[in-house]
Amino acid sequence: QEELRAASLYSRSLLEASLDPLVTISAEGKITDVNEATVQVTGSSRMELIGTDFSNYFTEPDKAREGYQKVFAQGFVTDYPLTIQNHNGKLIDVLYNATVYKNEEGEVQGIFAAARDVTEKKQTERRQGATNALLELYARKTSRKEYLVSAVDVIRDWSGCSRVGIRIKDSEDNIPYESSVGFEKNFIEMENPLHLGNDSCLCIRAILQNPKESDKVLLTPDGSFYSNDSLAFLRNLSPMKAKDYRGQCMKHGFQSIGIIPIRYRDDVVGAIHIADSQKDMVPLANVQFIESTIAPLIGEAINRFNAEAELEKYHLHLEEIVKQRTEELARSNKDLEQFAYVASHDLQEPLRAVAGFVGLLQRQITDSLNDKTKEYMDFTINGVHRMQALINGLLEYSRIDTRGKPPVEIDSSEPLEDAVLALHTSIAKITSDKLPTVNIDPIQLTQLFQNLISNAIKFKSEKPPEIHISATRQDNAWQFAVKDNGIGIERQYADRIFMIFQRLHTRKQYPGTGIGLSLCKKIVERHGGKIWFESEPGKGSTFYFTIPDLEGQN
Ligand code: ADP
Repeated sequence: QEELRAASLYSRSLLEASLDPLVTISAEGKITDVNEATVQVTGSSRMELIGTDFSNYFTEPDKAREGYQKVFAQGFVTDYPLTIQNHNGKLIDVLYNATVYKNEEGEVQGIFAAARDVTEKKQTERRQGATNALLELYARKTSRKEYLVSAVDVIRDWSGCSRVGIRIKDSEDNIPYESSVGFEKNFIEMENPLHLGNDSCLCIRAILQNPKESDKVLLTPDGSFYSNDSLAFLRNLSPMKAKDYRGQCMKHGFQSIGIIPIRYRDDVVGAIHIADSQKDMVPLANVQFIESTIAPLIGEAINRFNAEAELEKYHLHLEEIVKQRTEELARSNKDLEQFAYVASHDLQEPLRAVAGFVGLLQRQITDSLNDKTKEYMDFTINGVHRMQALINGLLEYSRIDTRGKPPVEIDSSEPLEDAVLALHTSIAKITSDKLPTVNIDPIQLTQLFQNLISNAIKFKSEKPPEIHISATRQDNAWQFAVKDNGIGIERQYADRIFMIFQRLHTRKQYPGTGIGLSLCKKIVERHGGKIWFESEPGKGSTFYFTIPDLEGQN
C-alpha cells in the first residue's frame, strides 16, 4: 500500500509539474481532474472545475464538443485549436492534443487532454500580418492620402480598437486627421482644427514631445501616451490637473486611449491615435509594437509620398515653364518671320527702282565714262543685283511657312521629275530608285530636290556629276538620300551650312547666296523631319532628310 501511495504521489507530481494545462474528462463530458496549469489558465479553482461541463470554458463550446466527439471516434486529436476564456475575460489561444484512456479491462473511461498556449505565436503572426499589410500598401498606393486611408484599417483590424486615426502636422502646424475610421463625426470635426501652437491636449503634447508632470504615468519610455482606464485616471486627479484632460477623448468616453508619435528621422510628423470605449484595449505591448514597427513604417511612407508629391509639383512647374517658353518662342519666331517677310517684300520695291535707274544711267552716259568710273558703275550694278538675290532668298525663306500648303499624299517621284526638268541640266547624270508616296506640300518637295540637286551639280569635282536619289523606310518615316560625287564637305561645317547666308566658298569660286540649304532645312522641319549630311571630302556627299508619317497613319 505504501508503494502504491508513493507511485500515485509520483504521477500526481508529474502532472502538476507540467506547464501545459492538463485535464481528464469523463465519458459524460464532465471534468474529472485538472492540474495547476489548468487552474491558472481558466482562473477557476480545482474545486470549481471538477464536475462541471468541460465545454463551458471555451469561447466556442460547440467546437470544443466537436473535438471531444472526434477523440472518441478516432481515439485521439492533435493540434485542435480552441480559445479558453479566463474567468476575468482574458482569451487564451490553445492547441489541444487529446487521447482516450482505458481501464484494465480495456474500456474507455474518458479523455486525457493537454493544451498548449499559442497566444504568443498567434500574436507574432498577427503582428507580422499587420507589418506585411502596411508594406504592401507602401508598394501599391500612389498617394499619401490613399496610403493612410488604408493604413488605419490595417491598424484597426490588428489592434481590435474600434477607432483609429492618423494626424499629420502641416506646414502651418495644424494637425488634422488625414485619415480615420470609427470616430464619431463630431469628434473629428471638433479635433481637426487643433493647432500645435494654440491648443493643448494629449495628441498635441505627444507630437510636441512635451508631457506635463501628470502625463508621466501615461507615458511609455519612448514617448507615447496610453491609458487603459482613462476615466479612472481622470477621477484620481485634482480638479486643477483634470482640466488638462477634458478633451474630446474623455467627453466621448474613450476608456482606452493610445497616442503614438510618428517620426521621420528625428522629427515628429504626426501621431497615430487609437481609442475604444472598452477598458484594456491598448495593452503596453500593443502600444510598443506600434511605436517600434507601425509608426516608423508609416513615417517612412509619409516621407516617400511627400517626396513624390514634391517632385511631381516641380515636374508640373517645369512642364508649365517649357510650355510658356515654347509659346514665347513660337510667338517670337512668328514675329521674326513677319519681319523678314515685310522687310524683304518692302525692300524689293526701292531696290528695283535703284536697279532700274542705275541701268538707265549706265546706258545714258556710257560713252563719256572713263575706265575707273565704268568699273565703279559695274560694282554698283553687281551690288544691286546681289542685294536683289539676297532679298529674294529671304522672301522665299519667309514664305516657306507663310505660303506653305498643307501636306497631301503624293508620289515623291513626281516632284523629283519637276525639279530635274526645272534645272535644265545636260551635264549631270541623275538617277533614282523607286520612290515612295509621302505626305508633303508637293511644291516644297520640288524645291527641296531642286536645291539639293543643284548644289550637287554646282559643287562637282573634276568628274562629270553623278547624282542618285533613293529612299529607305524607317519606323515612322521615309528617309531620302541625295548622293553626289562632288567635292564633299568637311565635317566641321556640319551645322554651319544649314544656316541662312552661310557659305564655305567665295562667290568667285562658286556663285550663290547661301540660302539653299537653309530653305531645305525649313521645309523638312515644317514637315516634322530632320536633315543632315555625310561626306568624304574629295569623294562626294550624301544629303539625308526624313519625312515622317502623318500622325495616326502607318
Ligand atoms: P549656296 O549653294 O548658295 O552656297 P547653300 O545653302 O545651298 O548655299 O549651301 C551652303 C554651303 O554648303 C555651300 O556654299 C557649300 O559650301 C556647301 N554645300 C552644299 N551642298 C553641297 C554639296 N552637294 N557638295 C559640297 N558642298 C556643298
